[in-house]
Amino acid sequence: MSELGLDPSTDIILKLVVILIVSILSLRMRFIDFYGFIASLAIGVSVLFLGGWKLFILLLLFLTVGSLLTKVLNGGGGIRGWKNVVANGLWAALSASLYGVTGDKSALIFYLGALNSMFSDTLSTEVGMYIGGRPRLIVKPWVETSKGLSGGVTVHGILGGITGALIFAYLSSYLFNGSLDSRLTASIAGAGILANVLDSFLGASIQGKYECSVCGRVVEDSLHCGEVARHLSGLKYIDNHKVNFISSFVGGGLAVLLYTHIF
Ligand SMILES: [Zn+2]
Repeated sequence: MSELGLDPSTDIILKLVVILIVSILSLRMRFIDFYGFIASLAIGVSVLFLGGWKLFILLLLFLTVGSLLTKVLNGGGGIRGWKNVVANGLWAALSASLYGVTGDKSALIFYLGALNSMFSDTLSTEVGMYIGGRPRLIVKPWVETSKGLSGGVTVHGILGGITGALIFAYLSSYLFNGSLDSRLTASIAGAGILANVLDSFLGASIQGKYECSVCGRVVEDSLHCGEVARHLSGLKYIDNHKVNFISSFVGGGLAVLLYTHIF
């Protein structure tokens, strides 16, 4: 019997149907490009088939809320490529698979922490951009920075991120316990919020920043307006994907640490 009380073959067929529907929808709505699609298919399949329905529902919640907020609040945000998908989803896919194979609760908590750090980060970005206001560098709050650039934070963005982390923590705690486990909720919420702060901190410090020689703007890519941009600060080989990759790992690890040692 599966989590849904179905016999194994019906459960597999239902999972295949769900994967197919989500795939078609995400391609139709143009959230991801082809290689991004292949990467998310691999992540979705491992989370659903190894991790199970509950873990998949939370992944779907993160993807749906993130994509909808980007489209509805801020009118687009570009199509995700495979680097974006892997940076956001690889730790989640690995921990979900580990949890599915071993049933280890730490792997489950790691998954929830990693996903919550990405969820909190997405909410900060989208709410912050929507409400507006001049972002300030998280490492030097007295310095204003450009909109949409990594490492910049606004009060509304921070509040949005905290709210998102709390909602995700309550939902996932409820989903796995059937009641609210305050120790689990606090660990997942704390990990999401702290990893989100770390993400901005890394974005402001080690992430590479460039100045475009054509339009003069400070940008995150070494190429802009078809020209090679001048290196300004940070490390050249650390881009936004790598910062997300590090933050989601730390989010997972922090959730386990908070759960086992602090709360
Ligand atoms: Zn430019």
